[in-house]
Order: sequence, then structure tokens, then C-alpha cells
Amino acid sequence: MSDDNKQSIVIVGGGTAGWMAAALISAVTKGKLGQIHLIESDEIGTIGVGEATIPYIRDFNRMLGIDETEFVRQTNATFKLGIEFCNWVRHGHSYFHPFGQIGASVGRSAFHQLLLKKASIDGEMDFHPYSLCCVAARTMKFASPVSKKGVDSTLGYAYHFDAGLYARFLRTYAERLNVCRHEGKIVNVDRIAENGFVRSVVLQSGDVINGTFFIDCSGLTGLLIDKTLKCGFDDWSSWLPCDRAVFAPSEKLLTVPPYTRSQAHQAGWQWRIPLQHRTGNGYVYASNAVSDDEAIATLLKNLNSPPLADPRAIRFKTGRRKVFWSHNVVAIGLSAGFLEPLESTSIHLIHSGLLKLLDLWPGRNMDPYLAEQYNQAMSAEFEAIRDFLILHYKLTEREDSDFWRFCKNMNIPNNLAYKIEHFLRSGRIILTRGDLFQAPSWLAVMLGQGLIPETYDPMVDVLDTDLIEGQLEAMRREIKEAVARMPIHQDYVNLIIGG
Ligand SMILES: Cc1cc2nc3c(=O)[nH]c(=O)nc-3n(C[C@H](O)[C@H](O)[C@H](O)COP(=O)(O)OP(=O)(O)OC[C@H]3O[C@@H](n4cnc5c(N)ncnc54)[C@H](O)[C@@H]3O)c2cc1C
Repeated sequence: MSDDNKQSIVIVGGGTAGWMAAALISAVTKGKLGQIHLIESDEIGTIGVGEATIPYIRDFNRMLGIDETEFVRQTNATFKLGIEFCNWVRHGHSYFHPFGQIGASVGRSAFHQLLLKKASIDGEMDFHPYSLCCVAARTMKFASPVSKKGVDSTLGYAYHFDAGLYARFLRTYAERLNVCRHEGKIVNVDRIAENGFVRSVVLQSGDVINGTFFIDCSGLTGLLIDKTLKCGFDDWSSWLPCDRAVFAPSEKLLTVPPYTRSQAHQAGWQWRIPLQHRTGNGYVYASNAVSDDEAIATLLKNLNSPPLADPRAIRFKTGRRKVFWSHNVVAIGLSAGFLEPLESTSIHLIHSGLLKLLDLWPGRNMDPYLAEQYNQAMSAEFEAIRDFLILHYKLTEREDSDFWRFCKNMNIPNNLAYKIEHFLRSGRIILTRGDLFQAPSWLAVMLGQGLIPETYDPMVDVLDTDLIEGQLEAMRREIKEAVARMPIHQDYVNLIIGG
């Protein structure tokens, strides 16, 4: 290879983003595109949250050749079939956003159109019995799918894991591939006068780390992308007003559920993430609606097991950098932007950013067209996730606090309004550029939040009503039988870890 294209790659930050970047780039480039350095500061530490994922994490692990059993053991992981949303529509109401498929199409008709027609006859509009993940989650069951065609192939799953252990796991992996780790706080960033590119970072110890290509994984501070290059920020708090979280671990649950729970409160929502050895809990809230003390009291009151530590607090602003890749710096992880963890998307955005970066990997000339393409693609993905999150808030029926009244009545982005309108008129699910969440996810959240279409696709009338009823009944039965054969999630985890 031409030395013109060899880089000295410097990853700034050793949180989940930094070590995911180090592991994937070193695995793919095999040292042939240049030495990789990673700098992290023990004094600053990492954000210490971020433990629920979506199914693409399995692709990430697969790309690294990571064995699932080893991963589950090393990171205290459990399995995740989706998210249970409680009190989002109204008090006492709940629904499940499952991974994997919901129902199956018949002929040209999407599954939910069959359900809509059935509902027009019998008034029954419950999608949960048609999702293997929903039915398994409700009965605390889990088994990894074995067949590629049978009903178990419709199951999708992700993990809950200990973020600190995952970073350590990836560190071991990356260091084996010769990633060079430096511990210390960066106190200065040196730029090349002629073009503004970053030349080096200077540590408190006086050590200087030179680079030709910098990946900013420094977390919410955005050391290079913001503090140095001042790339600007698109603030989305007018749609997603939560700006703080308080969080605390609690004891392991007696029966570990195979799902995350999101429970809406007066001014936000509380997560419950079950791990093998403890439970992660946090209340994401709007600081103009409740005080920090009230938030802590709400968090503690709603724990399902005794707390293991005092709550910690974190502030954030929802939005994204106006530019993710500028000069010779690409921001990945929290330095790129923040979207609240309602659908566990941040770790996926790290993965997705890294894949796009590998596709657009620059030579030393740092072709600006590559940066432009990256920025366009990441902007579309951030905005699509933002809209999916707004959907949950906008479709509430709650009017019991200023916070929920605001959410119910707020103006929403045009793209999202268009999607909602389509679904309402005839149950069509419209996907647009950048959409991470596919039709089953939109269906679950729209129906789950109580958005019921006025009519169904007339194409369904081509099918005989008895045939539809027969097919739906068969789907429900197959799922029920498959779940009956599954082990309890806790037993499955014990089997894997050898407990
Ligand atoms: C409340 C909350 C809950 C979340 N829950 C989820 C979830 O369930 N699922 C999910 O996918 N995501 C979640 N996230 C997001 C997730 O935590 C992050 O995407 C993930 O941890 C990656 O963080 P990071 O590596 O970008 O930043 P950090 O973990 O903050 O790491 C930053 C790194 O940069 C280093 N650093 C910073 N400044 C310097 C300096 N001057 N010198 C040297 N080193 C420096 C730090 O030492 C650290 O190593 C959540 C976020 C929050 C705030």
C-alpha cells in the first residue's frame, strides 16, 4: 500500500464509543492502514450508563468474531426481547415494543392490515399475541432461535450488559490487535495553521500524541469536534424536553426479565435494565418540570429491588452536532450528539457511525466529499431516530401534568406528522431515508400508543374473511406453542454461564 494513505489514527476517549471504535477499526484494518492510538483519562472516567441495546449489537459482535457465550459471561449480560412501556398512554396502561417480526403477511397484504380488517369486524385490536417476542417476554421466557425458517426465526433479540465490563472486554480485544493505549488527560490540542487540521493532542504529563486522523470519542464534552473545531449543535429540546437523568443500581431481580422496562412518570420516564448481578435504573426527566430532589425520590420509590448505591445525576442537551466529520476529525458516540435512551439507540449509533466511516475511509488527503457523504448519512439517521422518539411522547393521552400536556400538544417535525397521518388514514407505514426502525417497530409503537387507523388497505378485501381469521388463528397458536417449549430466561442465562 502507498504510504500516502497510511494514517496515524488517534481515538480520543475510552468509553463504550472509544473501545468499540478501537476494536472494530483494528479488526478490519489489521494494522495495514496505520497505527491506532487510544487515549483515556482515569481522572475523567466514563459516563457509566448505556446498558441496553438493540439487535444490531449482535452484528457488531459477530464482525469482531466474538463468541456469544464468552460475551454473556464476561459482561454479565442478559437477553432483551424489546421494551415494555408502562403509563405512556395513560396510568395503568402498558404495551410492548418487541424486536423481530409481528405476524406475517398474506398474499400482498401486510399483517397489520389483516388485523385491522379483523378489528373492523370484532373490535379486537391487539398485536401482542402475534409477536413471539411479546408472548415470550410476558412469560419471562427466552431461547436463541435455532431454525432459519420456523416460527422461532421471527424472534429478534439484543442484550443488556454492564457497560464498564463491555468496554474492558473490547479493550482486551483491541490491545491484542496492537491498539496502543495511553492513559492521561488531554490538556491541549495543537492544530496545523494552514488548514486547521488537528496535528496532535498534549497530555497533562507533557506527552504529545501526533495523528493524521482523529476520532473524537470524548463523550458529551466533544473535546475535538466542539471545544476545538466549534462545529455547532442542533438543539432538539423543543421536541424532546428531558435534559437530566438520575440513576442508581439496585439488587438483582429475583426473576430476571428478558426485556427493558420504561415507566412514564410525571415529567419523564424511568428505565429498568436487568443484568445478571444487578439492575440498572434511571429517571430521565425535564428539569423545568421537577426538581432534582423530586426526581431522586421518584426514582427510589419505583425501584423493584433495594438500591446498591446513592443516585448519581447527569445533564444533557438533546440534539446533534451540525457537522460530525470536520477537517481530520470524526465525532462518534456522545460527542456526536445525544438522544435520550428511550429506545436504546446510542450504542447503535456508534456502531452505525463506525460502519459508515469504514465505508468512507479517507486517504491522507482527507477528501471533503467523504466527509460530506458521512455527514449527510449520519444526519438522516439521527433525525429518523429523533422522530421515532418524539412519536412516543406525542401520542400520549396523558394530561395530568404540564409536561404531558406540552408533549401531547407540541408541534412535531413534518416528516413525523406525515407518517402519523398516513397510518391514521389507512394504516400505511411510510419509511423514509435514514429510518433505523422498520415497519414492525413503527406498528408496535403507533398501535401501542393508541393510534388506530380509520380504515384498512382495500387490497385485504381480495382475501376471504374466513381465510384471514384462519391464518391469524394459526399465527397465534404457533407462537403460543413455541413459547411453551422455551425455557425461563433466567434458566437459559444460567445454562450459558454454567451456573
Ligand atoms: C442517562 C443515560 C442513559 C443511557 N442509556 C443508554 C442505553 O440504555 N443504551 C444505549 O445504547 N445508550 C445509552 N446511553 C448512551 C451511552 O451511555 C453512550 O452512547 C455510550 O456510553 C458511549 O459513551 P461515550 O464513549 O461516547 O462517552 P463516555 O463514556 O463519556 O467516554 C468518554 C471518554 O473520553 C475520555 N475523555 C474525555 N475528555 C478527555 C480528556 N480531556 N482527556 C482524555 N480523555 C478524555 C473519558 O475519560 C472517557 O474515556 C445513555 C446515556 C445516558 C446519559
